[in-house]
Amino acid sequence: MIALSLAEIAEVVGGQTHDIPDPSVQVTGPVVRDSREAGPGSLFVAFVGERVDGHDYAAAVVGAGAAAVLASRPVGVPAIVVEDVQAALGALARHVVGRLGATLVALTGSAGKTSTKDLIAQVLGSKAPTVFTPGSLNNEIGLPLTALTATDETRFLVLEMGARGIGHIRYLAGLTPPKVGLVLNVGSAHIGEFGGREQIAQAKGELVESLPPAEEGGTAVLNADDPLVRAMASRTKAKVILFGESDEADVRAENVRLTDSGQPSFRLHTPSGASDVTMRLYGEHHVSNALAAAAVAHELGMSADEIARALSEAGSLSRWRMEVTERPDGVTVVNDAYNANPESMKAALRALAAMGRGRRTWAVLGKMAELGDEALAEHDAVGRLAVRLNVSKLVAVGGREAAWLQLGAYNEGSWGEESVHVSDAQAAVDLLRSELRPGDVVLVKASRSVGLESVAQALLETG
Ligand code: ATP
Ligand code: MG
Repeated sequence: MIALSLAEIAEVVGGQTHDIPDPSVQVTGPVVRDSREAGPGSLFVAFVGERVDGHDYAAAVVGAGAAAVLASRPVGVPAIVVEDVQAALGALARHVVGRLGATLVALTGSAGKTSTKDLIAQVLGSKAPTVFTPGSLNNEIGLPLTALTATDETRFLVLEMGARGIGHIRYLAGLTPPKVGLVLNVGSAHIGEFGGREQIAQAKGELVESLPPAEEGGTAVLNADDPLVRAMASRTKAKVILFGESDEADVRAENVRLTDSGQPSFRLHTPSGASDVTMRLYGEHHVSNALAAAAVAHELGMSADEIARALSEAGSLSRWRMEVTERPDGVTVVNDAYNANPESMKAALRALAAMGRGRRTWAVLGKMAELGDEALAEHDAVGRLAVRLNVSKLVAVGGREAAWLQLGAYNEGSWGEESVHVSDAQAAVDLLRSELRPGDVVLVKASRSVGLESVAQALLETG
């Protein structure tokens, strides 16, 4: 982070200094909420959680060299005391990003935020020093903590923003005001919590409402293929740039195909030229993510060739997303157990089919959560697609939703032997251990709550 004195920080957050002999002591970072990450020069933020009270660790972090604690009560060691620690952390982040020379890029959407954030970070990072959200730390605490890791050298700051309700994105965009705001899609994730797709669109669109006007460099990057995202153009004063398959899109892909290994390849078109991309990531859903990243990079001055090269080199930075591992015995395990929604389930199955040409393919699938009234139809559709793609065997794991997956397979015709329904992850592992043969390809995917990564891990351990 950029160095700030304790006195400056106290002023920025409107706090009282306690037990601080020398207010000119510099905080050089990092700002942390986990006491184990505190070290010399750091600032420890003491949150009161359900089980743990950060204040209990104050003495330990100062003992480890931390400059001070941001706290909601005096703790007997150097502290800046405020009423609301979260608000103070936000105020500090807002102050610091205001002093940075970096361009802020923020993105949101229902699915693919982390994958796209990782792509943007790698594309922009090939051009200039870039700081980005680690993993999925996209909420009111993770976002400011990430922003505070930027330094004077940072040229691009790429921030993932998650929304659990109306007003969330507006709040986050207020903490770290982006110049470029990207909305990927409005899917069915969290539809139960929000109440409907329109409400989700309302919430995500707050990002483009928060952007500066076009004259001041504000740019909204919108998915031309998603009508609810496309419609957000009317909610912003920023310049609008569209990506997607649609002819209207400024940044498009042509000749999209999957290579034999299941990796998308396409010709990238941007307003400043065209160039060929073959991705290292698996699954055609990454084409949309790549176009989104390309649109951002184009707006920030990169050429089509530079973007295409970086996209072709980009790997996954976050785990359990189409992680492909080949066992010594030739069984390939595709771990996409991080999460699932109807769009990504179908993309993952298509990738499996492409990778499995001439090989036996297994789709080990669990439920897609939070689909509300659409749950039955969506699970049925995934089961059907598995049959249409000639997946050799569907292993549906779990309760009711797994039964719907299997029912979809039946409904599409033929299957009896080719699909099984097992009650839990362990049963799936037992089945696979006895039936897998060298050369087989196994896809493992379900919503986060199902925790199917245990299946992928067990398969790799016994490999
Ligand atoms: P979270 O809300 O958990 O932070 P996220 O929006 O960051 O999720 P990712 O972590 O990138 O999304 O991907 C989550 C899942 O969504 C992955 O398993 C992946 O298969 C799928 N996915 C990725 N990109 C897309 C896309 N463009 N459309 C649909 N699904 C996608
Ligand atoms: Mg994420």
